[in-house]
Amino acid sequence: MTEKSKPILVTQPAMPPLDEFVELLKDIWDSKWLTNNGKFHQQLEVALAEYLGVKYISLFSNGTLALTSALQVLRITGEVITTPYTFVATTHSLHWNGIKPVFVDVDPVYGNLDPAKIEAAITPKTTAIVPVHVYGNPADVEKIQEIADTYGLKVIYDAAHAFGVNSKGQSILNFGDLSILSFHATKVYNTIEGGAIICHNEKTKKRIDYLKNFGFADETTVIAPGINAKMNEVQAAYGLLQLNYVKENIQKRKEVAEIYDKELSKIKGIRILKHQTKAEHNYPYYPIFLDEKEYGKTRDELYDYLKTKNIYGRRYFYPLVSEFPMYRSLDSAKPSNLPNAHNIAEQVICLPIYPELATEQVNEIIQKIKEFKG
Ligand SMILES: *Cc1c(COP(=O)(O)O)cnc(C)c1O
Repeated sequence: MTEKSKPILVTQPAMPPLDEFVELLKDIWDSKWLTNNGKFHQQLEVALAEYLGVKYISLFSNGTLALTSALQVLRITGEVITTPYTFVATTHSLHWNGIKPVFVDVDPVYGNLDPAKIEAAITPKTTAIVPVHVYGNPADVEKIQEIADTYGLKVIYDAAHAFGVNSKGQSILNFGDLSILSFHATKVYNTIEGGAIICHNEKTKKRIDYLKNFGFADETTVIAPGINAKMNEVQAAYGLLQLNYVKENIQKRKEVAEIYDKELSKIKGIRILKHQTKAEHNYPYYPIFLDEKEYGKTRDELYDYLKTKNIYGRRYFYPLVSEFPMYRSLDSAKPSNLPNAHNIAEQVICLPIYPELATEQVNEIIQKIKEFKG
């Protein structure tokens, strides 16, 4: 490695060429149209729907407001079944809607909500299921839908990790009643901050568009207590440029992941995550799961050692959301209810992965993990 002193962070955002962005900024400066369903907002909705292979998409200022609003769109109340193995925004969005989260354990391999454990958590107050496609690996959408249909529940996917993921020949975003995306700087496709709701019919799209703009249906009609969660023109213009490079960026991520796969799979005590072959993957994270007996060091020892070598992984998702003070006292948050989630949360480190991560840097990270083994 040439620049030993420069830290390698878990991710680094892909950005469009500055000169291309400046051209679009000039356009915005000329028009003085900064937000409120401007032309870039409209263009990006069309372009993203086509790229992703979905019918309707509504852009938001971030993924958390998209999810918080999605729950309002379907008027979800009472209790919602969800996963503790996620980013806090999933659960906080329920909380902000006055909904009680009910945690259900995950499968021990992918960390996705375990459908076999959902039914036991359903009560008369349950209205919906909010699963996450963790690390871009599709949740078991068919089984989840079967349960939802049986019990009359809605399904809203937190698909923040699943931009561009296809399963069984179509976008994973086409499953469930709604899906939300995040376009935060750390995600595979970013608009600096940003997000979206994906829906399947025009009526719902209309309702979403009202709700993200205070509930205005026209100049003088307010149909619901909406919020302000619109994406602005600067973000949308940036997002249009990003779309030209996202395929190439996912390919670069894939190349990084393949080097890791090849070398790390040889190290005893390190489990890598083979992405599901039936899915067209997007390589958003590179999680490894460490078995401390086999590896000879604990997860945190390796995590801290890498930091001393200027390599900054992240323990996504540790601690579990169910361990945070505002959720810890819920019955469903008891560790005995969530054994698999606790296990993987104790084992995981997400290693650096991003399009510009050089092969030498990847090799250096691998070398350090080999070196440190007990
Ligand atoms: C990033 C993320 C979010 C939140 O998205 P923001 O755009 O940062 O608000 C929600 N859920 C998951 C699983 C995420 O990874």
